[in-house]
Amino acid sequence: MNIILMGPPGAGKGTQAKILVEEYGLKHISTGDILREAVKKGTPLGIKAKEYMDRGELVPDDIMVGLIREVLPKDNFILDGFPRTLPQAEALERMLKEEGIKIDAVIFFDVNDDVIVERLSGRRSCPSCGAVYHIKYNPPRNNEICDRCGTKLVQRDDDREEVVRKRLEVYRKQTEPLINYYREKGILRVVDGTKSVEEVKGEISSVLGNG
Ligand code: ADP
Ligand code: ADP
Ligand code: ZN
Repeated sequence: MNIILMGPPGAGKGTQAKILVEEYGLKHISTGDILREAVKKGTPLGIKAKEYMDRGELVPDDIMVGLIREVLPKDNFILDGFPRTLPQAEALERMLKEEGIKIDAVIFFDVNDDVIVERLSGRRSCPSCGAVYHIKYNPPRNNEICDRCGTKLVQRDDDREEVVRKRLEVYRKQTEPLINYYREKGILRVVDGTKSVEEVKGEISSVLGNG
């Protein structure tokens, strides 16, 4: 099974992706995680990507398509954060066709702006192992310390309010049109992303035909 997760920043894509990895044994391809890792290591990709990420803009399509070409498995994957533009979606489609790979479902997380702002402002991540928390909805056992590895949690630079506003604007302009693109292909599945983590998980199971 191959799935794409789509939705605004902070909709809960990464959180559900981790659950799907456990449940279905899928490989999680998060372009945001790959880019943040590259930034941390200071690779040429990271150096290029950082300036866009810090401003809340998208990394250019040619870079992203090249990256996906390198990391996309043949089967059993979750794409989280890609595609984010129409040219990326078209490039992906060509790539999948060449390889004879099919996307089973594009799961769209429907959430309103109030929820996005609350989710992103409370999001904390572990700079060491990448675990993601929320100060109110998914707090670590010890204040601001990662349950898994004991590292002090941080707020992502791009989760600051000014950058969040820009990311939302970019999402509306460049990514939202993909909802119709996939609806027309008949593979769009909508879930109510404002519900609890458990409830969203249940909705995803049911749209995937396992409810
Ligand atoms: P979120 O999950 O909060 O929406 P991500 O971690 O997916 O954010 O992405 C963080 C940043 O990485 C984006 O704001 C953008 O700069 C860059 N990025 C990630 N995926 C892509 C992509 N497919 N195309 C262009 N830029 C991307
Ligand atoms: P995305 O990958 O779409 O940017 P995340 O999975 O990182 O979103 O979630 C954003 C924030 O919201 C995180 O702090 C996460 O712990 C929290 N979160 C995720 N799903 C839910 C939910 N259903 N209810 C409440 N908080 C959630
Ligand atoms: Zn950790």
